[in-house]
Amino acid sequence: MENVDELEIRKFEELASRWWDPNSEFKPLHAINPLRMNYISQQINLAGKAVLDIGCGGGILAEAMAHHGANVTAIDLADASLSVAKLHQLESKLDIDYRKSSAEQLAEEESDKYDVVTCLEMLEHVPDPSSVVQACKNLVKPGGLVFFSTINRNPKSYLFAIIGAEYLLNLLPRGTHDYGKFIRPSELARWCRECQLELQGQIGMGYNPLTKRYFLEQSVAVNYIAFYQKPQH
Ligand code: SAH
Repeated sequence: MENVDELEIRKFEELASRWWDPNSEFKPLHAINPLRMNYISQQINLAGKAVLDIGCGGGILAEAMAHHGANVTAIDLADASLSVAKLHQLESKLDIDYRKSSAEQLAEEESDKYDVVTCLEMLEHVPDPSSVVQACKNLVKPGGLVFFSTINRNPKSYLFAIIGAEYLLNLLPRGTHDYGKFIRPSELARWCRECQLELQGQIGMGYNPLTKRYFLEQSVAVNYIAFYQKPQH
């Protein structure tokens, strides 16, 4: 059985034409993109690296990594998003290899292939995130890095990521996120440990509703990025 929630894919397909509109439903992703891009490029110089972006959507992160000199392959299951991503890269004059695939499918074809795998804001949209984590581990080369980002699960994240973002501030459409699918850093760490990925670091992302700015912070109570390394041997 495929590890995909068709309703989630449909939800993203419906919004797909607006991926590159910085004032659309994807505004928060545009706003956090420079922060997460900086964090990634502080950990590894992407120039010339083989990078895989899983759940790429319209290519917001994939394009940023290509601008840093990475050779990017990017996958998603939403046709409409992939079409938008392919069109947009023509405008950006980039050469990203967009493909329709799940992480698990690609892992069967290409193991130990990528220097870096990114899987941002995606795990909370799949039925079995641990299966995606395992696929990431198979796809990355020994010694390579895997970056995940998702949303923690606790009363504060319910208040900020659901009530705040979807109901009070209207940053995201209602129903974008399902609280039950949020992932504690300890759960992500356990899935990673089970497939021998080693935690290298993690950082939180906060939002100030008064200044309307996002920032990196030590607290991983709500949104966070964590990155892992596959051992050399
Ligand atoms: N990673 C991008 C987009 C996040 S939105 C970013 O952070 O900017 C989540 C994306 O995951 C959507 O594009 C959705 O279509 C995709 N997605 C959801 N389930 C998926 C699955 N099982 N396999 C691949 N992509 C999936």
